[in-house]
Amino acid sequence: MNSKDLFNESKKYLPGGVSSPVRAYKPYPFFVKKGFGSKIEDVEGNQYIDYCLAYGPLILGHAHEKITSKIQETIEDGTTFGAPSESEITLAKEVVKRVPCVDMIRFTNSGTEATMSAIRLARGFTSRNKIVKFEGAYHGAHDYCLVKSGSGAATLPDSLGIPEDTTKNTLSVPFNDEEAITELIDKEGENIACIIMEVVMGNIGCVEPKDGFLEFLRKITKENGILLIFDEVITGFRLSSGGAQEYYNVIPDLVTFGKIIGGGYPMGALAGKQEIMEMIAPNGAVYQAGTFNGNPVSVNAGIATLNILDNNFYNEINKKGDYLRNNIKDIIEDLSLNLQSVGLSSMFQIYFNDKEVLNYSDAKASDSDKFFNYFKELLKNNVFIPPSQFESNFISIKHSKEDLDLTSDAIEKSLKNVFK
Ligand SMILES: *Cc1c(COP(=O)(O)O)cnc(C)c1O
Repeated sequence: MNSKDLFNESKKYLPGGVSSPVRAYKPYPFFVKKGFGSKIEDVEGNQYIDYCLAYGPLILGHAHEKITSKIQETIEDGTTFGAPSESEITLAKEVVKRVPCVDMIRFTNSGTEATMSAIRLARGFTSRNKIVKFEGAYHGAHDYCLVKSGSGAATLPDSLGIPEDTTKNTLSVPFNDEEAITELIDKEGENIACIIMEVVMGNIGCVEPKDGFLEFLRKITKENGILLIFDEVITGFRLSSGGAQEYYNVIPDLVTFGKIIGGGYPMGALAGKQEIMEMIAPNGAVYQAGTFNGNPVSVNAGIATLNILDNNFYNEINKKGDYLRNNIKDIIEDLSLNLQSVGLSSMFQIYFNDKEVLNYSDAKASDSDKFFNYFKELLKNNVFIPPSQFESNFISIKHSKEDLDLTSDAIEKSLKNVFK
């Protein structure tokens, strides 16, 4: 069957024809046959240079030989035990060595579970109920965090099925806005357990913190007994070996991981200072559990991945990012377009926006219809990016100079067609 027929068939059995909503787009998504290195191939046999990369985990590209062989070896000896195994210590030590705020770690099965548990832990540790998140930040699909907008007041949930009682303790503020935070903390400070944040907002495109913003947050949270949680599900092991906290040199109390930490297999983790982490069950009274927590498949994929991610690796992948972003800047300038090329390290995006994007409302002002046309033009030119203005694009270590040059040509052609 071709992608169109598969999608029609799929819609009979899977709501919307997909297993996660971002994967559906009009008129139908391509169905994947396989991935290899920097490429993804659809059932029709078309090959695309892939910058979606499963929305972030595949920093080594698809089916990396070292990960594949490690997993083949691992599964021979069983895939999950419900009992501890040494590989969990190995991965934990590796994370402790790399990430400044981490003394201890609890493995979960997804980023969603990691942030859900981190928030519970922050509430348990502080004996406070309210949490603060930034407008437009995504911390997974659980009830605490599916709240986007509002102005310091308790806000309504973004999905049906979430009681307002659940989200009335979730306060949201604009990113990069010190005044809004100060005001909120003046009013509610002693009830706030944590501020949870994407250090780089990767789920509205790619928005970096302004100079001094992270230092400001670190200071004001410390002064008010509020825990600072960095959700590094995207940025962990992406921006640097120690993640965004190392990159920007601001150390949170807790951190959450997902995506890269599982080396392409399902995994997440929450981690942080010992004093806080010791409150997790069975030591402490904050409950967290999972049948597949720390399973040897995901854990060994994580170990095999981190073994590859050394300083040389980051130099190399960041150079690829610089090269592509510079090409994009030149293209936008040559075509005299009013667009924003953004990104850092191995993340990039183009905002179809004539102004600099500093927060969610700026991002929302982008022309997402034009962006979707750009996405479709890129597909025609064998380049796959997420079909939304509000995602980041990712580069893997397997993207060659030739890939990046072909991509630059495809971007130029696509922008010309979108704006002709
Ligand atoms: C993807 C993502 C999550 C959720 O992770 P899942 O593994 O999809 O549950 C949480 N936070 C951020 C910042 C993410 O990008």
